[in-house]
Amino acid sequence: MKKVKVNLKDSHYFIYLGYPLKDIGRLLTEKRYGRRILILSDTNVFSIYGKIMKGSLIREEKEVIDVVVRPGEGAKTLNNACDMLKKCAENKMGRDDTILTLGGGVISDLGGFVASIYMRGINFVAVPTTLLAQVDASIGGKTGVNLTFGKNLVGSFYQPSFVYMDYNTLLTLSEREKKQGIAEIIKYGIIKSKKIFDIFVDKPVDEMKKHLPFLIEESIKIKKDVVEKDEKEKKGLREILNFGHTLGHAIEISHLSKFSHGESISLGMAAETYISWKLGFCRKDVYFTVKGVLQKYGLPFNFSSITIDKIFNYLRYDKKVRQGNLRFVLVQNIGKVKSGVVVKIEDVSKILKEMIKNEKYR
Ligand code: ADP
Ligand code: ZN
Repeated sequence: MKKVKVNLKDSHYFIYLGYPLKDIGRLLTEKRYGRRILILSDTNVFSIYGKIMKGSLIREEKEVIDVVVRPGEGAKTLNNACDMLKKCAENKMGRDDTILTLGGGVISDLGGFVASIYMRGINFVAVPTTLLAQVDASIGGKTGVNLTFGKNLVGSFYQPSFVYMDYNTLLTLSEREKKQGIAEIIKYGIIKSKKIFDIFVDKPVDEMKKHLPFLIEESIKIKKDVVEKDEKEKKGLREILNFGHTLGHAIEISHLSKFSHGESISLGMAAETYISWKLGFCRKDVYFTVKGVLQKYGLPFNFSSITIDKIFNYLRYDKKVRQGNLRFVLVQNIGKVKSGVVVKIEDVSKILKEMIKNEKYR
């Protein structure tokens, strides 16, 4: 069990790592986070962990209100946010009461958003239950819901009162869901930590479970350092976290979520490392090492089922292409990247087409 402190300009909060779910009630009492707790969860997570969570709160004589939504990105709607706001008001929740999210990134995005606007902001406690949410969504303070026009178009920066993780919740994740988190952890390795990356290179896949606590903690520390320096994403320092995401996002959206977020950024990382090599930012072996690790963990790196034109249509439509240029985070070596590299879109297209051609002959 460990605590990591996140220091922000006007406040700070703790991330509790590896604490049992059943003890969270006591912590809420100790920290005086109100008598009424609204739990937001989805049907999958609530059916597995709802009882433990509620038990822990009821033992502390909390009044528990639960809101359980359907799993998946589709839950991030203004409608669901509205229903939650009404529940808060109906149950006379006050500013010192708490919204607690129990689930993955979808749940903390939606619940954090509601916590940020109900009575101009009430306590928000995040209990991330996916590997991806533990290393990504639960740190950084971004909340939001989607509109039909696009993802996260309505939202806020709102920091949690604390984040609480029980590693045992990861045991019930599907393999595909687990891999999403692995892809994001590999990203942290490439951008900032050879130590993380080398674990993926050196250790056998079936030992990963043993290394997860270390990998989660290291990833959180990297993200936390970046967020502390650029809380509201105004200084461009957070851009480093976008490695693999320039093309990754475009793949995810242009292929209508055929690939999960983690799979998309895996493809994005492979392609962006290839671009790094071709533009002389890194050596050839860096590209092959990255590709090798993605392959080892069953993550996609091959573009055979990708339609390149779809990616570029999306990038142009989304105005990511400015004056014919795209911005990338490119790899110099494992653990070292360069942000804000501007590359002409025609060059990106040429390099990717060459990459795909080479893949075919391999
Ligand atoms: P993320 O954005 O972090 O990947 P989501 O909120 O989209 O997370 O959740 C992904 C899927 O995993 C959902 O179907 C959710 O119900 C399920 N899920 C989340 N946590 C767990 C868990 N600990 N065990 C089993 N399934 C889970
Ligand atoms: Zn991501």
